[in-house]
Amino acid sequence: MAVWFRIPLWQRVIAALVLGIIVGRLWGPGAESIKIIGDVFVAFIKMLVVPLIFFSLVSGVASIGDLRKLGSVGWRALLLFVVTGQVAVWLGLLLGSVFMPGAGLDTSAIPMGTVPEANETTWRQMLLGMVPQSPVQVMADVNVLPLIIFSLLLGVGILMAKEEGEPVLKIFDSGSVVMQKVTMVVMELTPFGVFALMAWVAGTLGFGALAALGKLVFLNYLGCLLIILVMYSALIKFVAKLPVIDFFRGIVDAIAVSYSTASSNATLPVTLRCAERNLGISNSVASFVISLGATINMNGTAMYLGLATLFGAQIFGVDLSWGDYFMIALLGTLGAVGAAGIPGAGLIMMALVFGAVGVPLETIAFVAGVDRIMDMMRTTTNVTGDAAVATAVASLTGEIDREEMISADDV
Ligand code: ASP
Repeated sequence: MAVWFRIPLWQRVIAALVLGIIVGRLWGPGAESIKIIGDVFVAFIKMLVVPLIFFSLVSGVASIGDLRKLGSVGWRALLLFVVTGQVAVWLGLLLGSVFMPGAGLDTSAIPMGTVPEANETTWRQMLLGMVPQSPVQVMADVNVLPLIIFSLLLGVGILMAKEEGEPVLKIFDSGSVVMQKVTMVVMELTPFGVFALMAWVAGTLGFGALAALGKLVFLNYLGCLLIILVMYSALIKFVAKLPVIDFFRGIVDAIAVSYSTASSNATLPVTLRCAERNLGISNSVASFVISLGATINMNGTAMYLGLATLFGAQIFGVDLSWGDYFMIALLGTLGAVGAAGIPGAGLIMMALVFGAVGVPLETIAFVAGVDRIMDMMRTTTNVTGDAAVATAVASLTGEIDREEMISADDV
């Protein structure tokens, strides 16, 4: 037992990931029987999402101590979200036009998945949905974006109330520490959850489907890796001016959890913990940038939306103009902002982009069978992006403990 705890958590998690793949490949579809362990793990992490955002964001915003400083963190984060999102979607378009994954594809060889219901959300509904009409309802529904807005407002209110707001601030400060401890306990389940989820994916995903759609899956991985290794590394090295290796070492847990759960939301508590403990980012910047990023900053999804739209256009022979490309770039970023941080959200958002440029929705059925394996990589890209932007913003605003990041020995 003591030996188990002496091994750093991230090493246990990586071992579980590799072991899960091996066991899943050997076991085959039967591995689905242990998926329940992964589901229990995800359910426990989801339990943390609402109280963690609520306590840590309110206490984070209030501890910034100055509304102007909140603004300087906010605009930098939004600017980096927009710039990285645009680079991502254009990268997807570039990969799709250079490698043409859909050209000459025999669609009859591909097993059809189910088409998810087309997303009917209009921008009006989206806008209204961001308003936390009933904060309690928002919490009960685990509706992250309005919850963030409510928590931000509450933090601002505490700042404005000055001395009179202090008793309320104390409650949130202490609640935030308590929630971090609860997160630590739940994180101990990670190796088991990651093992079970990886065994399930590796055991049930047929290689046949992969072979037919291999090019698309490959390009999805290539695009995501380029974003992570080139764009995020550059952000860390040139904007944050910090060692790239230490950054990636600090977020290993978040990478493993995002890859195996395919959900930014479910990974959020882990990302927050990595950012604060291992990267030395202040609670105020981490909770603000990462919670917001988990819902609106999805570069893996944006890249994929660009790539998949070209894939659909190629298999169905739809000609796209430059105007269409700009349309895809715009809707791809909007789709990534609107996509919830849950498995398969990117698949649903495809309908939004496809409809606008005349690509048949049947494409969704073609790719649905292999979406999970692509989703895992997209989510890892999304989550790494949140941590990278948070690191850059923290560094630019002096909210990072450089010593802690460089020396952090992850547990
Ligand atoms: N699953 C992704 C996430 O949670 C969203 C997507 O499907 O692209 O970040």
